[in-house]
Amino acid sequence: MKTNDSSSFSETLPLLVIREGKEQRVEKSKTSIKEYFYSDRDAIELKNAVSGGSTIVIALQEKASCYDLLKKIRSDPETALKPVFLTTVHEGEKLPFSDGTVSSIQEASEKAMPIVRRLERIDRETSDSQERIFLLLGYLYSRPKQSLMPFADWQSKEVYHYPLADVLLGDDEESFRQLQSLCDHGLIREERLVDRIRHCPHCNGCHLNFVDTCPQCESINIHQQQFFHCFTCGHVDTEESFLDSAGLYCPNCQTKLRHIGADYDRALENYLCHDCKTSFSEAGVLARCHHCSKSAKPEELVPQNIHSFQLTEQGRLAARTGSLGNVYAVLDALENITPSYFYHFLDWALQLSKRYPEDPFSVIGIRLSNIMEITDTLGRQRAWELMDEFVIRIRAIVRSTDLTCRTSQQDLWLLLSRTPKAGCSILQQRIQEIKELTRQPDGVGLEFATITCTIPEEVDEKENAKLLIARLKGALS
Ligand SMILES: [Zn+2]
Ligand SMILES: [Zn+2]
Ligand SMILES: [Zn+2]
Repeated sequence: MKTNDSSSFSETLPLLVIREGKEQRVEKSKTSIKEYFYSDRDAIELKNAVSGGSTIVIALQEKASCYDLLKKIRSDPETALKPVFLTTVHEGEKLPFSDGTVSSIQEASEKAMPIVRRLERIDRETSDSQERIFLLLGYLYSRPKQSLMPFADWQSKEVYHYPLADVLLGDDEESFRQLQSLCDHGLIREERLVDRIRHCPHCNGCHLNFVDTCPQCESINIHQQQFFHCFTCGHVDTEESFLDSAGLYCPNCQTKLRHIGADYDRALENYLCHDCKTSFSEAGVLARCHHCSKSAKPEELVPQNIHSFQLTEQGRLAARTGSLGNVYAVLDALENITPSYFYHFLDWALQLSKRYPEDPFSVIGIRLSNIMEITDTLGRQRAWELMDEFVIRIRAIVRSTDLTCRTSQQDLWLLLSRTPKAGCSILQQRIQEIKELTRQPDGVGLEFATITCTIPEEVDEKENAKLLIARLKGALS
């Protein structure tokens, strides 16, 4: 770890280097770099030291100490989100809580800068933001390239877990459920399917032993054996029972068996249960759980897909604003119908327009593009007000017979009944005017793009609702 090569090093980032030994290595003049000599006993002192630095470099050799220290830093809400780097690569394995390894103070500072910048944008004053899930959202927000990766740990009962979520949420037991809830609320989404595992239906454990069993009595006392089939009487028995000192004889009808294929054959059955004496060709399979010792059939096991997760647009907004109630939710005041109903209705209208082409209708798509920036510059309160204003004006434009729908965070669709192309263009014009009408004195305003389509004039005959909306979405981006 070089600490004296910092000629171009920015002095503004307070940095803490945690190392072993008692020897001061940083020049006294470098006031932004502090050193802390690690010993696992003085927890309060460590917390104070870590709270003071904006970036932490752990210059310890031993993996266990690094892990222990990282876990302490990440589980304390006060220090959880700070950039933490290691100086030692541990057997090619990146510790899940670290921000990687560095070889100089300079490098630590450079790598920390983008994280620190993004952390500065997080509003931590709101009441919601005191909840631990904001640590997780904030962590992912400040490291945009990072996703939440599952780790397999043979020592844990359910094998897969998310170490980062466990430590940031402060609850190993509940973090799976909490991640599912974050996913349901659209704050994170499944990124990549990593694995599929099966759980014991009795205790949810994942350490299963698959044993082949007798399909008749479920005994595991089965053995593979060669069976013969006598063509004369149809008797099936083990190879040994056909063997006689003088050759092969059927133990049932005593016929001498000379030619395989003509007198006898190998039977399909090739297993024998030593408990119930049944012979069979295909063994059954049972999964025995090492945790609760109970057995289950393979089809009774509970499958679970294991994904990595990443933050969604909504999750980024929640992380930034420190609130789960999001600004886009204002759009719901339009009494939007659900996307599935919207598609259903649009399909029906498309069908109808083939029969009555003289009765055109139109669709207008609106994509809001700068809600995040507005929240950033105006603050959440004014962003809400601006969106409210937008909604009121949209509501003034649509009639009670028109339908509105949000297909994603920022996409709003208007389905305008009995509206020909000319009428649709006028409405589009009026929607565009909202931009200027809602512009704030300081010049900040809503930015959005619009697209229109009049049916049946502007649709392909084979286009259904999904294809049509997908095409219009493409034109909006
Ligand atoms: Zn026979
Ligand atoms: Zn049996
Ligand atoms: Zn079990």
